[in-house]
Amino acid sequence: MFPPFTLRYARFPDRLRADCRPTPVERPRLVAFNRRLAAELGFDLEAFDARVAAEAFAGNVVPEGAEPVAMAYAGHQFGNFVPQLGDGRALLLGEVTDPRGRVHDLQLKGSGRTPFSRGGDGRAPLGPVLREYLVSEAMQALGIPTTRALAAVTTGERVFRRIPEPGAVLTRVAASHLRVGTFQYAAARRDTEGVRLLAEEAIERHYPELAEHAGGERYLGLLEAVVGRQAELVARWLGVGFIHGVMNTDNTAISGETIDYGPCAFMDAYDPRTVFSSIDEGGRYAYANQPLIAQWNLARFAETLLPLLDDDIDRAIERATAGIEAFGERHRASWETVMRGKLGLATEQPDDGELAEALLEAMQAGRADFTLTFRRLAEALEGPEGEASLAELFAERRALDAWLPRWRERLAREAVDDAELARRLRAANPAVIPRNHRVEQAIAAAAEDDDFGPFEALLAAVTRPFEAPAGEVDYTRPPAEREKVLRTFCGT
Ligand code: AMP
Ligand code: MG
Ligand code: MG
Repeated sequence: MFPPFTLRYARFPDRLRADCRPTPVERPRLVAFNRRLAAELGFDLEAFDARVAAEAFAGNVVPEGAEPVAMAYAGHQFGNFVPQLGDGRALLLGEVTDPRGRVHDLQLKGSGRTPFSRGGDGRAPLGPVLREYLVSEAMQALGIPTTRALAAVTTGERVFRRIPEPGAVLTRVAASHLRVGTFQYAAARRDTEGVRLLAEEAIERHYPELAEHAGGERYLGLLEAVVGRQAELVARWLGVGFIHGVMNTDNTAISGETIDYGPCAFMDAYDPRTVFSSIDEGGRYAYANQPLIAQWNLARFAETLLPLLDDDIDRAIERATAGIEAFGERHRASWETVMRGKLGLATEQPDDGELAEALLEAMQAGRADFTLTFRRLAEALEGPEGEASLAELFAERRALDAWLPRWRERLAREAVDDAELARRLRAANPAVIPRNHRVEQAIAAAAEDDDFGPFEALLAAVTRPFEAPAGEVDYTRPPAEREKVLRTFCGT
């Protein structure tokens, strides 16, 4: 069933990894399988058998040709450096090359203890597995770079967190699992050769256009490329109201994919200070802090590259600093591109950023729902009824009323008709996001009642986010007061 594995990381020096087998589970059951992704990766689906798949995705049977490894990494967690973290409950099976020639990591998450587990049990509860499945597939459908969910199995075992919960294993697919923290692990050990190997792997897999550069230019190119991808990634997060929740350096992927969906959440009412994660007491990873934090994480990445940038340390620091400082402009440009799209603008005018900011200020003043406000811009163009349905999202609408004529004036300069503008707006602004309360409801039904119906229905809705879904449950609706989820947990 599996495509052939390559063993790129398994052949890395053993100081950067630990070979390790998954710990078998009692009763594996396949509860979710991403057929479309499997087909894209080159799985043989004619040979697909749910029981065989459950054994493989639970780690009970290691697929032929795979050599599981736990990757070593370090990381800054909430600003504090931890020199050794590593895959404590995950194993990389190996890489597969899809029919288009792209390389992907296949990783089991929740597959048991590894040499990096320390006190942890190496397991994952079903809740966080389903959350990651839903949110990563939603991100993909929203066009945001992300790791993917290939399969979820329940283990037939309980894991003990705040309360006993059903155990599960997620199969995660990533362009790679190289993180800023992977580089920090080698750099903290003064292992410049290790940093170079990691940099070469990153260039080959994610930034092949750098192949023609040599020496310091090559690694400066890597830094600039990663800065560019992260600047754009975070701009896209902001464009859908996404809050990652744990932007530690070990959760920052060199590929520019969103990785590690722990206490992440989408906000409902717009407030740039929004924080959901129960452990983020200082609001370090609040919605509007995310660009600054990404830049801070990239500065940590740049530090690891210093020995490769120039033999002269002062010149190396100068180059690294310039690379990091470029983040601000790159991010602002990406953010303006995202916001232009959300406002229906295909041309560029100097005031577009301000126009977007003015709407956000109106939303904050009116405690308006982020997703629905943008979605209803299309309706607002279509007549007074549509405009009323937009305005009803605002508890206080003075600022919105001032903004609408400004926006219309700007739209006039696009020189296309309203039907085309409405089409653009609906293609850029999702109707459905994985709202927290829906995710929690889906998890509760699965974990408490073994009912995966709500999970499947929600997954179907969030993977077609630009359609206005008709069905029993209204997935576009914000939570009622009693449904609101104010806190999310790492749950690991
Ligand atoms: P995360 O919060 O998922 O980014 O993980 C941070 C670190 O804690 C990583 O090194 C994980 O491998 C480790 N970790 C998280 N949960 C567990 C667990 N249940 N058992 C062992 N290690 C874990
Ligand atoms: Mg992590
Ligand atoms: Mg995690």
